[in-house]
Amino acid sequence: MSENSVQAAKPKPSVTAVRVSKSIVGQDEIDAVSRVMSDGFLGMGTEVQAFEADIARFLGTDGDVICVSTGTAALQLALQSAGVTTGDEVLVPSLTYVASYQAITATGATPVSCDVREDTGLIDLEDASQRLTPRTRAILPVHYASNTAGRSELKSFAKAHDLRIVEDAAHSFGCRDADGNLIGTDGDLVCFSFDGIKNITSGEGGAVVSFSAESTARIQDARLLGVEKDTEKRYSNSRSWNFDVVEQGWRYHMSNIMAAIGRVQLGRLAEFAEARRSLAKRYQDRLRDVAGIELLNIDYDGLIPHIFPVRIVASGTTRDVVASELSSAGFQTGIHYMPNHLLSKFKTPYALPVAERLGQELISLPLHPGVTFEEQDQIIAALTDIVAGG
Ligand SMILES: *Cc1c(COP(=O)(O)O)cnc(C)c1O
Repeated sequence: MSENSVQAAKPKPSVTAVRVSKSIVGQDEIDAVSRVMSDGFLGMGTEVQAFEADIARFLGTDGDVICVSTGTAALQLALQSAGVTTGDEVLVPSLTYVASYQAITATGATPVSCDVREDTGLIDLEDASQRLTPRTRAILPVHYASNTAGRSELKSFAKAHDLRIVEDAAHSFGCRDADGNLIGTDGDLVCFSFDGIKNITSGEGGAVVSFSAESTARIQDARLLGVEKDTEKRYSNSRSWNFDVVEQGWRYHMSNIMAAIGRVQLGRLAEFAEARRSLAKRYQDRLRDVAGIELLNIDYDGLIPHIFPVRIVASGTTRDVVASELSSAGFQTGIHYMPNHLLSKFKTPYALPVAERLGQELISLPLHPGVTFEEQDQIIAALTDIVAGG
């Protein structure tokens, strides 16, 4: 209704609008939600337990999968379970969703903004090493644009400096790393997001994969107000009436309704993966030699790309002009991301030149399983024309 009236007030785009990202849900998800609604147990119960088991089986992981309300909650609880607290510092790349930063400050710790590598947008460990202090407790790397490169270097870095690693794998559910391992089969604490537009969705939602019994217990308790061992009770459809609480907890659990959606989506991941990967490879092939555009250095084999950012480096135009012209042509774009160290809450006294440059140049092109090759060809043609000064 309101969407229609907004549409009518604007000049009609010449072609049907293609969104930059989109939830892909259908009758199976609707049926799954209906089933939970009919069962009548909407909160956290056996459906969530089943989703956790499905994820663990899909990944083939020895770690414990703990589902929570959002990817942001997953990051916050993972940090909390690692003992990150007030007075601690966490190294984080500036080029990420503000969720990574807010999850850190939610624990009382301080995000320490690091620069990123120009070719990938991934955290620059050289820069990070300059920002270590005796208070540095953890590093929070982001698999930017689903790129899982550099995990072994991260592990060596963390080991050398005695840091916990909380991986922001919000972009990389279902992706493999350079060694061929699925993300979530090894590491320290790995965090996924299942929000509406990620590789799979549970409506909203997230998960932590934990590789230590201590972290698992702390995350399980902390997602349910710190009530000790409440998870076991809920999975047998009972409640704790007599309990103890020793730690700060939150209402960050997942509901059965969300889990039901997530379980269907997990079964569709192969379909989504194929669509996303082939779109990303087609963009890469067709934009590689276009003057004025720089691509990130990403090998899409083994990845399920969540976004497709490119850099606008044309002399005659800017990213914002390109965005507005693509929008007029009916193609929505995104900015992933505004560097966080420029935001008021996270302002740094130092510059991060690469993140700042990428923050000006990056534009994300439509990428989701609903984009057709025909639409993609139109986007590529429009973009090529714009950067050529057409
Ligand atoms: C989506 C996202 C998150 C947060 O996930 P939510 O489920 O939206 O809370 C964190 N980090 C990155 C990089 C993301 O893209």
